[in-house]
Amino acid sequence: MLQLPPAEPGMREDEVDTPALILDLDAFEANLDTMAALLKPTGAKLRAHAKTHKSAVIARLQMQRGAVGQCVQKVGEAEALAQAGINDILVSNEVVEPRKLKRLAALSSIARVQLCADDPAAIPPIEAAAEAAGIRLSVLVEIEVGAKRCGLEPGAPAAELAARIAGSKHLTFGGLQAYYGSAQHKRQPEERRQAIAFAAGCVEQTLDALKTRGLDCPIIGGGGTGTFAHEAASGLWNEIQAGSYAFMDADYARNVEPPPFRQSLFILAQVMSAPKGTGRAVVDVGHKAAPVDSGYPLVAGRPDLAYVGASDEHGVIEAKDGPLPVLGEKLRLVPAHCDPTVDRYDWYVGVRKGRVECLWPVTARGLMT
Ligand code: PLP
Ligand code: MN
Repeated sequence: MLQLPPAEPGMREDEVDTPALILDLDAFEANLDTMAALLKPTGAKLRAHAKTHKSAVIARLQMQRGAVGQCVQKVGEAEALAQAGINDILVSNEVVEPRKLKRLAALSSIARVQLCADDPAAIPPIEAAAEAAGIRLSVLVEIEVGAKRCGLEPGAPAAELAARIAGSKHLTFGGLQAYYGSAQHKRQPEERRQAIAFAAGCVEQTLDALKTRGLDCPIIGGGGTGTFAHEAASGLWNEIQAGSYAFMDADYARNVEPPPFRQSLFILAQVMSAPKGTGRAVVDVGHKAAPVDSGYPLVAGRPDLAYVGASDEHGVIEAKDGPLPVLGEKLRLVPAHCDPTVDRYDWYVGVRKGRVECLWPVTARGLMT
């Protein structure tokens, strides 16, 4: 059930009900502009990842600034965005279940949709879905570039799969998916540079093998918030898939030489208990309101306060020095990891200069299939 929004336009931020997902609009817009400006001279285009924001409004704002489309990870996200008018969507992920493929193929009537494959055995069900829908589906071949997640071996095996796709009556070969996820949070800049240099070698090797077979490679997609500058500068990747850049999070901020974006996403929490003499205050943001896979949230602008423990619905705040927040006080928390944070909320509360300006639905919240 979609909850009623926790705020109304015109309210002060401290009147917003909690827990709430706050979007600092000045910082957010600056991030979108910064990414557009950084990519412009490289010639690489942004195909922003909607797994982060799950929002048709934000997708549109990114595309108004030059993004060629959106990436999603799930067919449900593709449906939500396509139905909201986003017309160019890449599922940057493998889809093998026929029920899902049928849904994806059906979307072709309202949007350009593409997906990835990394196995010849995955092709027949994709072909069958395209044939049944009476369309041609574009399929990218995902190659392993170092992340040890999805992706088949670069070079000849990848080119062989591309040829299989290109030879199908119901499919077209869309290009290569070359995303190095675990490179994004390598802490040292030199580690990130080396990781993407390795990935570039994998891409080049595959391009050579495609050439041997006379196959063009329209898209080379990859790059996230931690490494996109390397992919964009390489002259190889032409679609950058960064998502978190719009919001940032405490984990990205821990990278040495962090990405050049501002923290725009916050969780508004309220002190619901401040037991006297215990040295702690308890807020209404626990596991269900903030993911802890990348550590605890930080208290924004309050280095004197630390979020030190979470249970389902509670977060424990301690003061390193100075006073604790008082009962009823509201605190902005910086999420440790933005993507799973957003998925816990129905609404973005857009705030500018202390006032609520807009409420945007998290269009694709919870759509896992
Ligand atoms: N592309 C793919 C395939 C991803 O899986 C992800 C995130 O995991 C991204 C792009 C975007 O990464 P980030 O949000 O770190 O920019
Ligand atoms: Mn993430």
